Amino acid sequence: RQLFTILPLVAATAYTLLLIALVVRGSAQSGHRWWFSTVLIASILWALSLFLIPASMQPNVSQWLLAASTALLGATTAAYVGWNTEHRWLFMGAVPLLLAPLFDLLWPYPRWLETQLRETWQPTTGTLLTLSTWTALNLAILGLSWREYSHTRPPWHANRLLHWIVFVGATAFGELLTVMPNVWLSAPGQIFRFAAIIGLFRAITSHRLFDVRARLRRGFAFTLTSLVSAIPAAIVFTTILRMRESFPVRDWLAFYVAAMLVIAGGFVLYQPIRRRVSRIVYRYLVGEEFQAGKVVRRYSRAISRTLDMQQLAHEIVGTISDLLQTTRGALLLVGAIEEGYEVEVIPGLNHPQHGRKVFAPGSQFIASLLEQPQPLLQYDLDFNPYYASLTPDERQWLAEQDMEVYVPIHHAEQLDGLIALGPKASGLAYRANELELFQVLAEQTVIALQNARLYSELNRQNDRIRSLNIDLRQQNERLEILDRIKSDFITIASHELRTPLTQVKGYADILTHLNEAGPVEQSETRRIMEHINRAAARLEKLITALLDASELETTGMELARMPATLDMAFNLALEPLNAALHERRIQLKREGVGDIPQLEVDPQRLAQAFHNVLGNAVKYTPDHGVITVSAALVPGVDGKQDYVEVVIADTGIGIEPRYHQLIFEKFFRIGNPELHSTGATKFKGGGPGLGLHIAKGVVEAHGGHIWVESSGEDENNLPGSRFHILIPMSAEAKTEIKGLEIERLTELRSGEIGD
Ligand code: ADP
Repeated sequence: RQLFTILPLVAATAYTLLLIALVVRGSAQSGHRWWFSTVLIASILWALSLFLIPASMQPNVSQWLLAASTALLGATTAAYVGWNTEHRWLFMGAVPLLLAPLFDLLWPYPRWLETQLRETWQPTTGTLLTLSTWTALNLAILGLSWREYSHTRPPWHANRLLHWIVFVGATAFGELLTVMPNVWLSAPGQIFRFAAIIGLFRAITSHRLFDVRARLRRGFAFTLTSLVSAIPAAIVFTTILRMRESFPVRDWLAFYVAAMLVIAGGFVLYQPIRRRVSRIVYRYLVGEEFQAGKVVRRYSRAISRTLDMQQLAHEIVGTISDLLQTTRGALLLVGAIEEGYEVEVIPGLNHPQHGRKVFAPGSQFIASLLEQPQPLLQYDLDFNPYYASLTPDERQWLAEQDMEVYVPIHHAEQLDGLIALGPKASGLAYRANELELFQVLAEQTVIALQNARLYSELNRQNDRIRSLNIDLRQQNERLEILDRIKSDFITIASHELRTPLTQVKGYADILTHLNEAGPVEQSETRRIMEHINRAAARLEKLITALLDASELETTGMELARMPATLDMAFNLALEPLNAALHERRIQLKREGVGDIPQLEVDPQRLAQAFHNVLGNAVKYTPDHGVITVSAALVPGVDGKQDYVEVVIADTGIGIEPRYHQLIFEKFFRIGNPELHSTGATKFKGGGPGLGLHIAKGVVEAHGGHIWVESSGEDENNLPGSRFHILIPMSAEAKTEIKGLEIERLTELRSGEIGD
């Protein structure tokens, strides 16, 4: 009894030591640490009050302090779990506690209380209120934590909560004992409470907690095994005792020897029975033990067969999942790059998709896995202060992977990859021997991973060579075409030149004949001269085109820039085509051409370019077609210099994509040159293959760009062609529009058009 009276003093000292340890150990002061120190302070005061204030004194200060410490424990729980309700707990605790002394003053023993309880226990109304508060707070803490626990899926995260619940429950139980009026209960209660507080202290100061569920299971399994395997021995023992009664006393020596033999036999039997029983109990309660050697052998065999990275990920995660019922997993490839480490996800089992993430060079996630070949738990990433410096971005990516453990695959001091595994289907945490096994399996994976990497690299190279081959073939085709153009040139030139020349000569002959036959009428001469003139004009046009083309080749195109409107250049270009448009019933639409402000261009040359493109549109569009000319301003890449983009779209036969570049080549024409019928505006009338080449020369001399869009050639469905001409508004922009920028603009424009 003497010992029991100083027990509270010992407890107060112990709580003080805990408080000191908390302050000393706590370098990173987080919220729950702070709240827990208030619980310890309340506990110290409570223990002191037990020692200093006699229990009979009213109001009962020690119970009041106990309830206060429970309210503080509620706030600690809120901070520990992350509810953000710390102040609500204080309020819930404080209000009834403030009322308790008031009740004690006004109605310490109301009538109903007297009659009901006075015989055995004499609580005041204040005490009752305090104790009810204490009960309610404890139930609330346990209930809410339990709810949180049952919603938490990752096993170690859940374990953290379960550990907390177990020790809060133990604290409450210890407190319940101390409140009992019997000293044989209250003294052990104090010790029990202190032990439970140590459990909470561990939860607060360390993230490494034992696996509560596994330990409970093992404890239960051990007890069950011991009890069941003791049954035969117990039966033998009782039987002997029975027999002892029926044996005559004089034969006691014989009996003794026999009994000893039987007992020895029982003990000899006990071990094998126990072994057998424990195997059964553990299989059903704890889970079967695996044989590491066998697992490793099977695993190595499975993964050594695969070269494909995807297949390897399936094999790795699949084998582990077969063994431990892992629900999900992936293989992560790690590669050092300039910005740090790149992690590439190869989905294995139930992992949604491929992904990449770059971790900074100093990232704790990679650094710790590099340093030590040990599995890293997601739980550690969340609660171990070592990983506090992970960036929110990295943290979120890791959380999204929703994995339980990362097992590093090391190769020559380098981190080659990671095996990422989700939780087990049972929701239980991985045991230490399982984590060890993972590490062994990861070591077995090194070679397979290297092989798969080499194999995929080989595949990549193959693909590259294949695409290079395709490029080469395309280049070859192009060269062949260009070569063909050269020989075609002779055919085209002779054809194009001979036709008008033959006409001139033919009509001149007719005229000579007529002249020799007699006087020629004036109207007849005019008709013939018209024919000769037209043929001469065609000849002239052809020669001009040839000269332009050669000018482009030798000196480049000279421009005479002056302020001009787009409208004007268009009118110049259209004039010679008007008759043909009318005759072929082709409709011409203009959109926005008149709205473009003055440009600084060579209007003659620009008109020539437009004319060539428009002429083609007329030629390759069947009768009754539509040609649309639209113009719009386009902001330059730097935003301030404006360009004008002209689109000439027709509803004609279209152009095969493989010819989209070639048609701008000199003398290039699609199809067989000999099959072309000559004609400037006839449907599909051929030309010398210079029109677009010159147009391109003009546009580029202006610092612009010309390209075509068309889905393909089809005379029946008439997909049409769209020629884009992009020209800077003035000469200054010339340099900026060249090169890469133009490609970006092209992309931009074609994106808008939706081609
Ligand atoms: P040509 O002087 O023979 O018309 P171009 O250089 O103007 O030569 O055009 C080259 C080739 O591009 C033409 O032979 C024709 O096959 C094709 N082409 C040009 N414009 C069009 C168009 N609007 N629709 C279909 N094909 C076209």
